Amino acid sequence: MRACAKGHLYQDELLHCPTCIAEKNDQAIRDVQAMFLATAVAGGYALRVAKKSPRHVLMFKSDTRIFCGTNLDAKPQIEYTTYSTETLAKVCPGCRVAIASAVEDLTQ
Ligand SMILES: [Zn+2]
Ligand SMILES: [Zn+2]
Repeated sequence: MRACAKGHLYQDELLHCPTCIAEKNDQAIRDVQAMFLATAVAGGYALRVAKKSPRHVLMFKSDTRIFCGTNLDAKPQIEYTTYSTETLAKVCPGCRVAIASAVEDLTQ
């Protein structure tokens, strides 16, 4: 076993720390959300809502990451919906808060 600069342990035969790679990918996906969300608010992109309960909203560019922070185990059945306060009122409260605050950040 070896450890990366951040102290994650990983197998000797791996070139890069898998935890750090996953964190980087995660951050990259988070970084593009604001841009896509701005377009969605303007009506350019649909929001993808998981057809299950609670109705999580999927992050853009991902089939399993959701706005309230966790990941879904599997790719859900998806409903496409346009962004509106009405739409947000019908989704998971965690996703609603995350999206509302992201949209608020866009207008600042
Ligand atoms: Zn690491
Ligand atoms: Zn959610």
